[in-house]
Amino acid sequence: MIANNIVTVRDRIRRAAAAAGTDADAITLVAVSKTFPAEAVREAHAAGIRDFGENYLQEALEKIAGVRAEGIQWHFVGQVQSNKTARIARHFDWVHSVDRTRTARRLSEQRPGHMPPLNVCLQVRLGGGAERGGVAPRGLQQLAEDCRPLRNLRLRGLMGVATGPDPDITRRDFQHLRKLYDDLRVRFPDMDTLSMGMSGDLEAAIACGANLVRVGSAIFGERHYSPPPDGSGT
Ligand SMILES: *Cc1c(COP(=O)(O)O)cnc(C)c1O
Repeated sequence: MIANNIVTVRDRIRRAAAAAGTDADAITLVAVSKTFPAEAVREAHAAGIRDFGENYLQEALEKIAGVRAEGIQWHFVGQVQSNKTARIARHFDWVHSVDRTRTARRLSEQRPGHMPPLNVCLQVRLGGGAERGGVAPRGLQQLAEDCRPLRNLRLRGLMGVATGPDPDITRRDFQHLRKLYDDLRVRFPDMDTLSMGMSGDLEAAIACGANLVRVGSAIFGERHYSPPPDGSGT
């Protein structure tokens, strides 16, 4: 079932890219495996997925230790609490949800020197809502400048979650993030990642220029629980 779902999602990406006149092969599919077991990750890996996203640190660490498959890139996409930064810096390849200078500094300080720099996206708050976290657009440039001297981070781009469910609002949010990304790239030309789009809105995101989509339920199925608020990540 997971393999079939991946075929369907890849097909959606291909169609959306074709409609947008962009190259589907240049769009990274991150399979968001939160709440699903290591076995589901192995199944997706066998179907060709190499990028996995997690929100809850404790759950993620157990999975990372349990999966042991070749060539996986682990992406942390959940809220980053200060007491989690050391473990995130040690066990992940990417963090999509950096929204404060303090978090960026801690991740850089705590990234082990023998590892490659941690790939980072700055999460931007879209549509004025604060629930999902993210830096306000007016604070984005300063946050990016604060990341410049951090040697163990590599600033890759921006991440956002549309406030939907209205498709017009979703599109407005994605267009907004695209504009912030284009504007910021004038000063940060090495940025190459626009992380936006999930199961329900990946077409709209790709139409607006996303080159990384984070897809959970369309691959793994409906999530039946949220891990308890025990400090494990959200
Ligand atoms: C859970 C989650 C996703 C995946 O959501 P789906 O709607 O299941 O595709 C993507 N991004 C973030 C930040 C998430 O928390």
